[in-house]
Parts: sequence; C-alpha cells; structure tokens
Amino acid sequence: MQIAIDGPAGAGKSTVAREVAAQLGFKYLDTGAMYRAIGVALADAGIDTADGAAVTDALPSVEMKVEFDGDSQKVCVNGQDMTGRIRSPEAAMQASSVAAFPGVRDKLVELQRRTAAGYDIIMDGRDIGSYVLPDADYKFYLTASPRARAERRRRDLLRLGQDVSEEEIEAEIRRRDAQDMHREYAPLRQAPDQVLIDTTAMSQQEAAAEILRIVRGQA
Ligand code: C5P
Repeated sequence: MQIAIDGPAGAGKSTVAREVAAQLGFKYLDTGAMYRAIGVALADAGIDTADGAAVTDALPSVEMKVEFDGDSQKVCVNGQDMTGRIRSPEAAMQASSVAAFPGVRDKLVELQRRTAAGYDIIMDGRDIGSYVLPDADYKFYLTASPRARAERRRRDLLRLGQDVSEEEIEAEIRRRDAQDMHREYAPLRQAPDQVLIDTTAMSQQEAAAEILRIVRGQA
C-alpha cells in the first residue's frame, strides 16, 4: 500500500507521517530530507544553489543513498551522512532552490520510486500524490495557517537546539512556499484527488488519527 502526504512547509507532514507509519507498520520516506541533503552538499562544494546550470552540471558527481534505520531514515551524499545537518532554515532554502531544477527532481524522483518499491510506504513531500506515486492508495494534502506553521517549526527547531525567532521562521516559510508554488516544474498545489486536512486548530496526533480513520475505512 502507498500513502502520499503533500503540503507546504511546517504543516506537520513528517510528524503525522511518522505516526501513521508507526501505527500501520509501514516505512516512512521523508523526501524533503533528500532535497535538503543535495542542497547542503552542493553548497558545501561551493556551488551556488540558485544557479541552475552549475547545479545541473554537478549532478553526475552526486551519489545519494537513502537507508531506513528502524523508524528513522539516513540520507548520505557521496558516502557522507547528511542527516544531522539538514534541519536549519538555511538548508531548507537551499533545498527549495535546487528543487526548482528538473535535473535534480528527475534524479531524486527516480531514487524515491526505487526506494518505495517493495514496501508498504508512506511518503511526504510536495509532488508525491501528483507525480511520484500517482497511483497511491490514499492521498492527503496537509496545510495550516502560516502563523501556526511557523510556531510548529519554531518548536521543532528548539528541540534541535536552534533558537530562531518566529518572525524569521514565518518569513522563511512564506518565501519558500512562494518559491515552491510558483516554480515551473512540479509546483506545489493541492490536486483534486487529495483529501485536505487543515491542521491549524488540530494537533498532529489528531491529524494522524484522521488519516488512520480514513485508511482503515472508519471515516
Ligand atoms: O519538506 P521539507 O520542508 O523538508 O522540504 C524542503 C524543500 O524541498 C521544500 O521547500 C521543497 O522546495 C523541496 N521539496 C520538493 N519536493 C518534495 C519534497 C521537498 O520540491 N517532494
């Protein structure tokens, strides 16, 4: 079985997806982590992540691997584990920059489909239901107000020891959403076959419970 969850930054997709995966005994693949890892790795190599030609030229020398490790996932680029370095607002913007380029998307989508094959899986991202897994059994679109999303991201970052102001996070989220929604290739938008869940006034546990009700046919 395949479950797709898409939506903007900070809507709670990964917490919800992880909870649903744990309840159902599925694998969970966080595709945003892959865009973050490639963005950070290219920036490390001195490449301007907004320069499409430079990013695309560098792609053949980027080898990415995703491994499931219990209920978490590890993303390695050229043998280096990137998992601990991809959660900053800067990494998020680098991800969003490189995610606009077709060469990057093709490479990662291929790896995502290959990783998904053979598992009952839940995947989250921006284009999972619309493009990566168009035949997914269940498709959800999670969203929330920008303020609620910024509050949630701030709490996540504090847990990781990063103290970033809510204003700064909200500005970054708005910038990133605009970039993700208006790019030419695979823009973020809700598709007609996705079930909308607005988590503004809902806890992530409630959102997970809602998805589980639907998947278990109890809704
Ligand atoms: O989900 P997360 O915030 O980690 O994603 C980081 C960035 O990666 C997004 O802002 C988006 O530009 C990109 N992304 C994407 N397609 C996906 C997942 C993430 O374009 N399936």
